[in-house]
Amino acid sequence: MPWCEECARFYNPNTLSGSGDCPEGHHVADPVHDPDAAPKVPWHFWLLLGALVLYLGWRLIEGIAWLIARI
Ligand SMILES: [Zn+2]
Repeated sequence: MPWCEECARFYNPNTLSGSGDCPEGHHVADPVHDPDAAPKVPWHFWLLLGALVLYLGWRLIEGIAWLIARI
């Protein structure tokens, strides 16, 4: 529960503004972080994604070469 020193009362996190201020304008809490707003993607995810794209691209080239060889 965010406590506002100046208003001497607790606030529901939903009544605070997006920047964490109480309705009176005092800064009460840190801005509420929406976990879905900016998902933190670990670097190894991109490494894995890059490897997957490379692999699928290679398999596609292989598949096309196989098709050409059969024609
Ligand atoms: Zn306040």
